[in-house]
Amino acid sequence: MYFCLIVAFLVHVISSYALVDGIWNPNAPSSLGRRSPDVNGPLDDGVLEKRGATTCGPSANNAGVCGTGPYYCDAPSCHFQYGPACDANQTPAGVNTTSVPRPKLGSTPYGVSIRDCGIPGKVALTFDDGPYIYTSALLDLLKENGVKATFFVVGNNGGKGQINDPKTGYPALIQRMYNEGHQIGSHTWSHADLSTLSRQQRYDQVVKNEMALTDILGFFPTYLRPPYESCNTDCLSDLKDLGYHVANYDIDTLDWQGDYGHSQNIFSSNLKSVSPSTRGFISLAHDIHDETVHTFTTYMIDTLRAAGYSTALYGECMSDPPANWYRNSTTGQPFNGSSHNSTSSSTAKSVSGSTNSTTTDTVHTSTTATPSAVSGGEGAFGSRTGNTTVSGTNSTIAKSQSATGTGTKLSGTTAKVVGAGVVWVLTCWAFSI
Ligand SMILES: [Zn+2]
Repeated sequence: MYFCLIVAFLVHVISSYALVDGIWNPNAPSSLGRRSPDVNGPLDDGVLEKRGATTCGPSANNAGVCGTGPYYCDAPSCHFQYGPACDANQTPAGVNTTSVPRPKLGSTPYGVSIRDCGIPGKVALTFDDGPYIYTSALLDLLKENGVKATFFVVGNNGGKGQINDPKTGYPALIQRMYNEGHQIGSHTWSHADLSTLSRQQRYDQVVKNEMALTDILGFFPTYLRPPYESCNTDCLSDLKDLGYHVANYDIDTLDWQGDYGHSQNIFSSNLKSVSPSTRGFISLAHDIHDETVHTFTTYMIDTLRAAGYSTALYGECMSDPPANWYRNSTTGQPFNGSSHNSTSSSTAKSVSGSTNSTTTDTVHTSTTATPSAVSGGEGAFGSRTGNTTVSGTNSTIAKSQSATGTGTKLSGTTAKVVGAGVVWVLTCWAFSI
C-alpha cells in the first residue's frame, strides 16, 4: 500500500508539472511525437520543469517532456514550436535578404534534385553539417593534398552557435573556406527537414542562413543541399523560387554511422564500378566527425586518385561558371568577385577552384571556437534518412508564428504518460483493497 502511495505521489508530481503550463492539444502536429530514428541523445539530459522563457520544450525524441540542456534546446532536436529557447528560433545578425531578387543564373537546372557530376573522371567531395570543431583540420588536410571541396554549411545546429557570431570562430573559418578555393553551399539554418515545414518556415530556414553567410562573406550561395535529402514537390518549388539548385549526391558514404570500413567499401566500389572515362561522382561525408576528417578523407582522396579520378567542386561538375555559385546579396546577380564583407580584409578571392589564397593563416589566430563535441555524431544533427526530425524557426519574413505564443502546447505523449499513470494508480489501488 505504501508503495502505491509513493507511486501515486510521483505520478501526481509529474502530471502536475506537465500540465501546469500546458493544455494538452490533441490537434498538435503528429510530427511532434515522431522520433528521428538516429537521434540518440540522453533522454534524461533535461530536467522536468515548467515550461517558460527559460526552458525549451520537448526534444524530438521526447515529445511531451519539457526540459533544459542541449537535447531540448539545440537544433535540430528541439522543437521550435515550443518556445523561444530552442536555438532554431534565433535570428542571425545581418541584413535581411528576403527581398533580394533571385533571377535564375546559368544553365544548371532549378526545381529538380541534382545527383550526378556531369564531368567524367571527376569526384566532387562534399562535406555537410559543419563548420564544426574538426573543420579547421579538414581545411589543413585538403590544402596539404591540393584538393578543393564543397561545404554545405548549417547556420546553427548541434549547439555550436550561430556561424556568423565572431565568438564562435566560425566566421573566420568560413572565410578561410572561400579564400582557399572551396565552394560553399547552404544546408539550411538549423538542419530542418524541409519537407515537413510550411512554405514560410522553409523560406525562413533558407533566408536565415543567407543572412548569416552574407554577414560573413557579403554574398550567399545558389546551391543548397536539403537536410536528410528531403525535399518534396513543394520544397523543390520553393527552392526554385528562392534561386537555389538542389544539390544532392550519388555516393552516400554513411560516414555518420561510424562504420568506416563500410564507408570505404561504399566509396571505392562506386568508383571502381565504372571507368573514370565514362562518368563522375558526387560524394557525401560530414565534417562534424573526427574520423571522417582525420582518416576517411585521406582515404577518399587516395582512392579516387588511384582509380584514375581527380577532384572537382560541385559547380564545376555542373559546368556552371563560378560567378553563378553565389548571389550578390544586394542585386541578386552573380557574385562578381568583390565583397563588402566587413569581418576580414582578405576576402573575395576568385572561386575558380584552383586559387590558393595566401591569407589563410589569419584564421588560426581568430578561430577560437571550441564548442563541446556533440555526442551522437550525425544523430545529434539528424540522420540522413531520419525524415521525422522536426525543427525550424519562426519566420523572419512574416512573423506569423510567435515562439512565445506556442508555448502552451503539449503533445499527446504527455497525456499518455499522465493517463497511464492514472490507470496504473487505479489498478494498484484496486489490488490493495
Ligand atoms: Zn546534414
